[in-house]
Amino acid sequence: MLVNQLNPETKSEQTNSLIPFTKPDIGEQERKAILAALEAGQVGGNGPISRQLEARLQEMLDIRYVQLTTSCSDALELAMMALKIGPGDEVIMPSMNFVSSANAVIRERARPVFADIDINTFNIDPNHVEQLITPATRGIIPVHYAGQGCDMVAIMEIAQAHHLWVVEDAAQGMGALYDGQYLGTFGDIGCYSFHVTKNISCGEGGAFLTNDDEIARRAEIIREKGTNRSAFLRGEVDKYTWVDVGSSFIPSDLLAALALAQLERLTEITSRRLAIWHRYYEELLPLAGMGQIILPQLDARATLNGHIFAFRTNSAERRDQLLQALRQRNIQATFHYVPLHSAPYAQLHLRPVPHLPVTDLVSSSLVRLPLYSTLTSDEQSYIIETLYELCRIW
Ligand SMILES: *Cc1c(COP(=O)(O)O)cnc(C)c1O
Repeated sequence: MLVNQLNPETKSEQTNSLIPFTKPDIGEQERKAILAALEAGQVGGNGPISRQLEARLQEMLDIRYVQLTTSCSDALELAMMALKIGPGDEVIMPSMNFVSSANAVIRERARPVFADIDINTFNIDPNHVEQLITPATRGIIPVHYAGQGCDMVAIMEIAQAHHLWVVEDAAQGMGALYDGQYLGTFGDIGCYSFHVTKNISCGEGGAFLTNDDEIARRAEIIREKGTNRSAFLRGEVDKYTWVDVGSSFIPSDLLAALALAQLERLTEITSRRLAIWHRYYEELLPLAGMGQIILPQLDARATLNGHIFAFRTNSAERRDQLLQALRQRNIQATFHYVPLHSAPYAQLHLRPVPHLPVTDLVSSSLVRLPLYSTLTSDEQSYIIETLYELCRIW
């Protein structure tokens, strides 16, 4: 096995500390913002700092309504509740996906239908989406993988032709655009994440976006436990009460303060991540030229945010060997994802299991390299040199 041929101890450039896959970039500005919120007593939800963050996002993304949530998973659940899906309904999404959109659909007793992806962008394949549409289809949940926008022109056309809604999972997409428009603002609803692994983070948090008055009104009731407290806070009613079924998806102003401080640094964080992304891309081009790895091909209409740097190997076996060898050398590279259609839950509850050849190929050969805004130039050099060394042995 490859790993047995390597002796990390003999390598001069070996670093002693682990280079993690991801690391939050929380500094002095964030510390001050949280302390200021604490000192002002702003710790509850739906308070002035949350309102400020929502307004900032509305302005930046050019969207009518932004409602903060406790996570992107919760924003997706809120979306499915606000769109009133139910038993018998089908929702199309990629299988090359995190679990949140599938859970959000299943919790409403509806059925996720898994589409294949494009071999170059790893994003949902609009042609396959069209093939999967049945009379039971209600909507599409495209996922902007690695912050690269899906083909939103094709997806919105299909949705309009078949009277479907679109909910964008833009969890990885903060700061990224498609055709000059921010991700999350094309569909009926957009969902963002401020999870600790995302570009802009408050540990756990998210945002629900819409331009639709009726969806916004329903969502603000659901996320406030089924009450009209939001209307009460705006002074529209003199007391608030139970008006619909709901849940609790409101984050604390303390977390909103952290997310707001991070958002102030969006340009700085994004440009740092993009510099790292482009350096990986350029310095690994010769390896791709030798046929050792396969670099992603970009959609020219997508403006990236440097969320993930991923490439493919020529086989599943090589991918697993490479990940193991990188870890032996203190580099925490990782795979992505166990496709949803092949996960234990789907094998048990979502039969028949679909045949998704591109998804299977990509997920079995994908490697993600460490990428975070505080990754040093020396660390990145070490990662790139190690990749060259490992490929020479092959
Ligand atoms: C991170 C992520 C989520 C979940 O976000 P949370 O805020 O942790 O709930 C959902 N979808 C995708 C594509 C993600 O990357």
